[in-house]
Amino acid sequence: MIRLYVPDDLDLACPDIRLGKEQGHYLRNVMRLRDGDPVLVFNGRHGEALTTFLSGVGPKGAGVLAISGVDHRPFSPSPDLDLVVALVKRGPLETIIEKATELGVRRIRLAITRRTNADRTNVDRLRAIAIEASEQTGRLDVPEIMPPEKLERLLDGWDASRRLMFCDETGGPPALDALRDAPKDQPWAVLIGPEGGFAPEETERLRGLDFVTPVSLGPRILRADTAAISALTLWQAAVGDWAP
Ligand code: SAM
Repeated sequence: MIRLYVPDDLDLACPDIRLGKEQGHYLRNVMRLRDGDPVLVFNGRHGEALTTFLSGVGPKGAGVLAISGVDHRPFSPSPDLDLVVALVKRGPLETIIEKATELGVRRIRLAITRRTNADRTNVDRLRAIAIEASEQTGRLDVPEIMPPEKLERLLDGWDASRRLMFCDETGGPPALDALRDAPKDQPWAVLIGPEGGFAPEETERLRGLDFVTPVSLGPRILRADTAAISALTLWQAAVGDWAP
């Protein structure tokens, strides 16, 4: 069944969710829905609701989704895991956003590091990618995507109760060893560097911080997108919601 993210409250007392032009077009012309067809919706706050599609009504005739049942699945958030990723080229960055969403990251922070060769990206486009991946993957929330910020500033303001798994291409203990006895009830973040890697000063600072756990992802240098997918997979298996 089609799943759609909507910003509206999921409330039987106000059952009509008005569709925007694009969503109406997508449901009617791309997915070829007919009046009365079911659609699941979620808003990142209230779980999932079952709705029925009605075309040709609502503002500009884009259609509405009429809620027929709330709590189809009650809300449960993704694990409290941030991905901190250096800005990399558009293709790999978009892959990272999509795969991190599928892998259950709750928040994505974009970092500008010494060797990052870009300081801006289209955050709205990244948000759209995260919404689409959340719809596809069945999760009940959408990861928040923060605008780019300097790594130094991000570390200055770090909440030390959140452990940071620093993926260090220059070496460190294997990630699975470092995570084996890690507490499961603590917020975490995973840090991935840019195409050019971390500058020596950045590596030195990170290694000296109490809340940092440096890890290696094996003997080969991985591209940033491969490294992000590998690190998130290992974290989910050892500490996250795949862990026994
Ligand atoms: N240019 C760097 C070099 O040749 O040493 C490689 C940077 S790599 C493309 C991008 C990021 O992926 C790294 O900064 C690191 O966070 C992560 N990464 C890649 N391979 C890794 C490994 N074997 N262990 C830990 N992290 C790794």
